[in-house]
Amino acid sequence: MQCWKCGYELKNLLLPFSRYEECTQCKADLHSCLACKHYDESVSDACREDRAEFVLDKDRANFCDFFKVNTKAFRNQDRSAADQARAKLAELFGDELPEQASNESHSSEADKALHELKRLFGDDD
Ligand SMILES: [Zn+2]
Repeated sequence: MQCWKCGYELKNLLLPFSRYEECTQCKADLHSCLACKHYDESVSDACREDRAEFVLDKDRANFCDFFKVNTKAFRNQDRSAADQARAKLAELFGDELPEQASNESHSSEADKALHELKRLFGDDD
């Protein structure tokens, strides 16, 4: 299975693993809601298992009796977060890099002003 947080391939894990199990790479708690098959952001408490007790920290090790490891937890999560970020950026800025565009117009405006000043005060070279 992969770590739900960093995607690191976790080997030699004994299933079901203990609630103290953590990712060897990023030290994320593996016995947590975010790594569980019942985790679902669209339902109340983000858990599809009605009998499970409410867990506040979804990314911390829990004492839930209904924990079932979700081997696809990493892919589900990260793909959608990255896509959302990219979509938001595209929406805001289109394809252009906003900083470059504004720098360009600033410098050409400054050049124009300088030219105008030189013309007015006869400072030709
Ligand atoms: Zn990890």
